[in-house]
Amino acid sequence: MTTVLDLGSVEISWLGGGEFELDGGTMYGAVPKILWQKKYPADEENYIRLLNAPLLVAVGGHNILIDTGLGNKLSAKQKQIFRVYRDWSLVEDLAAKGLAGDDIDIVILTHCDFDHAGGVVMHNDHGDSELTFPRAHHIVQKSEWEDVCSPNIRSAHTYWPDNFSGLADSGLLELVDGEAEIVPGVTVRLTGGHTRGHQLVAIEGTRGCAVHLGDLFPTHTHANPLWVMAYDNFPLDVVRVKERLLSEYRHKKCWFTFYHDIYMKACKLDEHGKVVASLV
Ligand SMILES: [Zn+2]
Repeated sequence: MTTVLDLGSVEISWLGGGEFELDGGTMYGAVPKILWQKKYPADEENYIRLLNAPLLVAVGGHNILIDTGLGNKLSAKQKQIFRVYRDWSLVEDLAAKGLAGDDIDIVILTHCDFDHAGGVVMHNDHGDSELTFPRAHHIVQKSEWEDVCSPNIRSAHTYWPDNFSGLADSGLLELVDGEAEIVPGVTVRLTGGHTRGHQLVAIEGTRGCAVHLGDLFPTHTHANPLWVMAYDNFPLDVVRVKERLLSEYRHKKCWFTFYHDIYMKACKLDEHGKVVASLV
């Protein structure tokens, strides 16, 4: 059964975007293994299991997806490299909720790394590429899209052109710059840090609020502002911005929702960063 967070006028659920394993150290940057492994156990080869779980946000008659998972375009070789142990099931999981691809109105991409944007374009039954959500407006920060179009030698490994083929010409790409209300109750804000154009999604319901900090807060074990990933492009920005955002949304008593965490879908934190409520 899928996990659901009920915020009154808004319902959030987590879907299957594929699951993979990464070297545990890469998720914790300079934090020693002896500290992080107590919170997020590694196997004997130092790998940890991670979800890539898109969020479906149902609000005011709109179906909004936050990120899209790994997609179904990975080759056998890529699946082996990224140690994919559970395939992308986003389309099937939506179908189980009675939704087809064209029932999705809006796709918000926190950023465009392959593990978040891999499901924007999918292979259909004939093996052809097509937009997975052919009616959805795809919301991306302007600076993120600039970097997708002109990647550097590092980001070229994670901004894959086939994840965006046809999107720019479809009329469905909507670039925002900074903060923007997407529909009443759902706002995006530029954060930078992980990538230059990384954005958060803030969700306001009649019975509470939630914030999706994307890869600034990938698992509940990253609540310490100093625990940042080796994948962050601007780690000191992540430390500074995360400290400010955790404080801001903690004071509002919002849920923090997670994309990569295999142990927890969402949590609330106290002022010391301790988890005081959780949804698994
Ligand atoms: Zn990620």
